[in-house]
Amino acid sequence: MRILVISDIHANLSAFETVLDSAGSCDAVWCLGDIVGYGPDPNECITLLRGLPNLTCLIGNHDAAALGTIDLNTFNREARTSSHWTQQVLTAESRAYLQGLPERIVHENVTLAHGSPRSPVWEYLLDPIAAYENLSFFKTDLCFVGHTHIPVAFRYLPDTDEMQSVLLRDGDSPEMDERMIINPGSVGQPRDHDSRAAYAIYNPETRLWRSYRVRYDIRAVQDRMRQAGLPSRLIQRLMEGW
Ligand code: ZN
Repeated sequence: MRILVISDIHANLSAFETVLDSAGSCDAVWCLGDIVGYGPDPNECITLLRGLPNLTCLIGNHDAAALGTIDLNTFNREARTSSHWTQQVLTAESRAYLQGLPERIVHENVTLAHGSPRSPVWEYLLDPIAAYENLSFFKTDLCFVGHTHIPVAFRYLPDTDEMQSVLLRDGDSPEMDERMIINPGSVGQPRDHDSRAAYAIYNPETRLWRSYRVRYDIRAVQDRMRQAGLPSRLIQRLMEGW
């Protein structure tokens, strides 16, 4: 069984289409939130996502921002500008879809959350200490999160009672013998200084995870962002992956 695990598409249709091509046929798709925000194609990304097989999708903070259900003052200036833009272009159908998304879910013995099991929409799991603190907030062995846009595996070490963090590169397959929190990275706005779109394939039968990176047409999405009048800093960062 092949499950495509993706997160943080951020309305980047070029990256999303390339990831789907690269991943090939999958039995199910788990999307960990932030479908919209930052990028120029929110409605197109939602439509493409909804057509995928056996889809499970969570809400992210940028999806909530696009719905106007959270305070945009928690966002930086560029994120706020892009959220206002997204609010204006979202169709009623797209809004209705985002409104129906859950904050966390348990599937195939894996807990899924956008940011963390402790605070699904908001918390950034950036270090092993925060990951350790979250162990008591989910009951399954595994938890998959997005939100930081950085592919990483946090693995529990029973001998020392701590979490170890390992950054995941293209082709990496972390050992899955203990409780873990894993992040596939971001499809539409990678932040680990690798501009390639990130995704993962997970097989629950063999408990195998593999991370992937794929090059996509960044210039095409940058052109559409310029046409949409989105902030230049958001356009520039895609090329550098930060
Ligand atoms: Zn995000």
